[in-house]
Amino acid sequence: MPSMSKEINSFEIVKGLIDTSVKKLNLNRAVYDILTEPQRVLTVTIPVQMDDGSLRVFTGYRSQHNNALGPYKGGIRFHHEVNMDEVKALSAWMTLKCAVMNVPYGGGKGGVIVNHKELSPGELERLCRGYIRAIAPVLGSEIDVPAPDVGTNGQAMAWMMDEFSRYRNHNEFGVITGKPVMLGGSLGRLEATSRGCVFTIREAAKATGLKLKDATVAVQGFGNVGAIAARLLQQEDGCRILAVGDSGGAIYNPRGLDIKALEEHKSCTGSVKEFPGARSVTGEELLALSCDILVPAALENQITAENAGQIKAKIVAEGANGPTTPEADRILAARKVLVLPDVLANAGGVTVSYFEWVQNNSGYYWCEDEVNQRLERKMVEAFNEVFCLYQKRKDVDMRGAAYMVAISHLAEAMRVRGWLGSQVYADAKCDYKLA
Ligand code: NAD
Repeated sequence: MPSMSKEINSFEIVKGLIDTSVKKLNLNRAVYDILTEPQRVLTVTIPVQMDDGSLRVFTGYRSQHNNALGPYKGGIRFHHEVNMDEVKALSAWMTLKCAVMNVPYGGGKGGVIVNHKELSPGELERLCRGYIRAIAPVLGSEIDVPAPDVGTNGQAMAWMMDEFSRYRNHNEFGVITGKPVMLGGSLGRLEATSRGCVFTIREAAKATGLKLKDATVAVQGFGNVGAIAARLLQQEDGCRILAVGDSGGAIYNPRGLDIKALEEHKSCTGSVKEFPGARSVTGEELLALSCDILVPAALENQITAENAGQIKAKIVAEGANGPTTPEADRILAARKVLVLPDVLANAGGVTVSYFEWVQNNSGYYWCEDEVNQRLERKMVEAFNEVFCLYQKRKDVDMRGAAYMVAISHLAEAMRVRGWLGSQVYADAKCDYKLA
C-alpha cells in the first residue's frame, strides 16, 4: 500500500474533478454546488450484543448524494477505516456512475466502522440487522436501494432485506440488490462488476489495437471484483494473469497463474500467498510489473504520484472505486497509459443491480445470458460515448470525459426538474453540445 493513502481525502478529489468538468462544460456554478455535497447524510450508532454477552456500539453512515435521475443507489461497506468523507466520496461516485451508464438511479453509499473478520456469523447478522433498522426510515425501493461493497456479500444483503421486510411488514425484495438468487437476486450479479470491467477492457483493446489473447495482466485485490475479473480474462479472452495480490500479500508467475486453482487456494487458506508455483512479490512490485493490463480492484488511492511513474501497463482498468489519485492520473496520461475510470469500468455492478431491481419490481426473472447481453450493450454504449468525447476533445483524459458525460446528463435532469432555476450554462449565450 502506498504510504500516503491515509492522507488523501477521496471526497476532496471528487469535488476537484466535478469542479473541472463543470467549468469545461461551461455550466452554472449551481451544478457544482449541488453535486459537491450529498443531499442527506446520516450517522447512526448500532448496539450489538456480542457472543460473550458484552455489548459493542458500532458507528455507521449512509450518504444520499443526489437523486435527480432516480432513487439513491449504492453499496454498504464494512471496514475498519470507513469514515464519513469516504462514504460521501463513494456516494458521489455512484451518482456519476449511474449517470454515465444512463441507469435511472441516483447515488448513495453506506458504511460501518468494523473489522468484519473479527465477528462471528451471529454477531455479523446482528450488526447487519441493527444497521438496517437504524437507516430504515430513509430506505425503500423507490427511495434508496443499498447493495454489497467491501466486507459485505449476498448473505449480508439477505439479512438486511429480511430485516427491512419485517420493518415494513411485507416482503420488499426491491429494497436491496446483490441478494442471493433464491431471494430475488439476479443471475449474473455476482460476476457483473468484473464482467462489465472486462467488457470495457475489450472495447479499449479494440480501440488501441491490443490483442487480448496472451495479453499479460496484473490484478490488485483478489475479492469479488478482482478474482472474477482475473478468471474471466483468463477463461474467456485467453489473457495470461501474471500476478495478483490481496491484503495478505501478492504473488507472481511469469508463465501465468491458474486462477481457478488460486480461487480454491484462497478459499482454503484465506489469502493468495503461498500459492504453489508462484513467488511472492510486494504490492508495489505488482503495480510496477511489465504487463499489458493492470486491474486495481482493492481500495482507494493505490496509484499515487509516488508510484505512477513506475507503472508499465498500457491499460489501467479501475475495478476499484477511486484507486488513482489526480496527480497519478496526470503522470499516467503523460506516459500515454489509457486509464478506464472507475465510474465506467466498474459500473457493471450497479447496472446489473438495476436489472435485479427491475426484475424484483416486475416479478419476472431473466436467464443469465439475457442479463449478460443487456449488460454488454450498456457497457459498450457507455464506453463509446466516453471514448468518442475523449478522442474529440484534446484536453481531457478518459476520466475527464466520463465526468463530462455524467455531469451533462445530471445537469440536464436537474434543469428540467427546475432545480437550477432559469439558467444551466455559465454563459447564457453558450450553445452547449457535448458531442
Ligand atoms: P472484496 O472485499 O470482495 O475484495 C477486496 C479485495 O481487496 C480483497 O481481496 C482484499 O484482500 C484486497 N485488499 C484489501 N486491501 C488490500 C491491499 N492493501 N492490497 C491489495 N489487496 C488488498 O471487495 P470487492 O467487492 O471486490 O470490492 C473491491 C473494490 O471494487 C472496492 O473499491 C469496491 O468499492 C469496488 N466495487 C465493487 C463492486 C462490487 O460489485 N463488489 C462494484 C463496484 C465497485
